[in-house]
Amino acid sequence: MAKKYPNVAYFCMEYGLDATMKTYAGGLGILAGDYLKGAKDHEFPLVGIGIKWKQGYTDQRIDENGNPYDAYHNYDYDYLEDTGVKVTVKIRQRDVVCKVWKIEKFGNVPLYLLDTDIPENEDAWITGQLYGWFGEERIAQEMVLGIGGVRALRALGLDIDVYHFNEGHALFAGFELMKEEFDQGATFEEALNATRAKTVFTTHTPIIQGNESHHLDRLMYMGANNGLTLEQLVEIGGAPFNMTVGALRMSRKSNAVAELHGETANKMWAHVEGRSEIIPITNCIHKPTWVDENMIKVAEDGGDLWEAHMKNKRDLISFIHERNGVTLKENKLIIGFSRRAAPYKRSDFIFTDESIIGPLLESGKVQIVFSGKAHPLDDTGKGIVSSLVKMSKKYPEAVVFLENYDMTIGAALTRGSDLWLNNPRRPKEASGTSGMKAAMNGVLNFSTLDGWWPEACNHGVNGWQFGDGMEFEDEAVLDTHDLKALYDVLQNEVLPTYYDKHEKWVEMMRESILSTKEQFAVKRMLENYYEKLYAIE
Ligand SMILES: *Cc1c(COP(=O)(O)O)cnc(C)c1O
Repeated sequence: MAKKYPNVAYFCMEYGLDATMKTYAGGLGILAGDYLKGAKDHEFPLVGIGIKWKQGYTDQRIDENGNPYDAYHNYDYDYLEDTGVKVTVKIRQRDVVCKVWKIEKFGNVPLYLLDTDIPENEDAWITGQLYGWFGEERIAQEMVLGIGGVRALRALGLDIDVYHFNEGHALFAGFELMKEEFDQGATFEEALNATRAKTVFTTHTPIIQGNESHHLDRLMYMGANNGLTLEQLVEIGGAPFNMTVGALRMSRKSNAVAELHGETANKMWAHVEGRSEIIPITNCIHKPTWVDENMIKVAEDGGDLWEAHMKNKRDLISFIHERNGVTLKENKLIIGFSRRAAPYKRSDFIFTDESIIGPLLESGKVQIVFSGKAHPLDDTGKGIVSSLVKMSKKYPEAVVFLENYDMTIGAALTRGSDLWLNNPRRPKEASGTSGMKAAMNGVLNFSTLDGWWPEACNHGVNGWQFGDGMEFEDEAVLDTHDLKALYDVLQNEVLPTYYDKHEKWVEMMRESILSTKEQFAVKRMLENYYEKLYAIE
């Protein structure tokens, strides 16, 4: 009998399966975790390959002066299953042994995690910190994921048809697939073509710096070339070696993570010769993880949606009270905002003109809850976090900053807020999935037309846009334009609807849920990947 779907091995540096499992940093990991759960729910043949991070990503807390600091802890999980499999990767001329764990506990298809923290390794630290290091260490980690990952699949005896690199971190898996071809006597061209035939790639951030590149000498010295010559490396990833460029050349098909991102990515990588086509497949979320089932049910049945929402809002208010000692008012608007503190996301944007926002905060008409980490080495991002904390001290009854953003905070905020604010500079946000969580929980989106939102937004019907999708090279011009739009829509549409047209607000909540609950649920995404990306033509 013909196989319905190809077997897929999905490679990703991070997975957010559960708040207790510190193997994720942000959106990429949440997406990967949701994807594995969706594959299990809807019976798609897929396994995940990742790393068992000893310390995970930073536990970022706020000190007495209101500045973020990074704390690391060692985490162990008694629920990981030992597969009994170990594979070896030669890193810097030394054999590094990778132990392979398996986890299926969170309603996900099998996820295999590689771990170098075992006594026989001199280099036990490699799987220590997720995105915690640069240069050599990052390459070593990516060698474990890619080269070690393919070897683990072989040692486990799994039959794989398609290798999916979710982000360029996994690219070295392609070098291992090529090596398998070389071992059969293939030439460089033959090995590359054979690898391409079974590899697909998802590109993420359109921020240039977010697309890692490495010095060629360093790749050679580390042994990441896996038998390729320096010239062959250049042919694949350029000089310096860009992981995204390499992945675009080693895959037969690629995708971007939203329609708009598809356009952006095609422009951004237009100069790369010999790359795969980039098609758009918009991200989705795993509903059982993020959405209050009752909200969907009440929206479908025409029940009292406001009362159902107020339960979630009260839960959020007590959550904030427990964490920060602040009691927000349940009869006033709560705006939620949680994002990595990166400049293009403009986390403190709403505070730009205090003559406008100040009185709204002082009167209590607007309450805002923030959360988000900055990358440990990103001083600008840390400055943004400090500025948010400062605002929470200036307006202690109306502004809250929740430290150490994680899945627990993400879930609480996207359920219990009234309004979900998102103000990236278009077109820098690849997709964004927190807005989908909010939308399906009846939390209305209030966002620039970036990422997934242009596909879902029906202004004044299921949420609001501001800025009309404008793009400007000059950031100062764009910021001025978007800020005026933000304040206009907030004051003239959002607040009057919330305070004076309650029935309309509730109707919009219903629309928000009904218009997004299928289109942005992970089943649609899996079907798209299997039909448009994995299908062997
Ligand atoms: C949903 C989620 C994300 C991704 O959301 P974005 O909209 O892409 O920022 C990141 N981190 C956590 C903890 C989440 O829950």
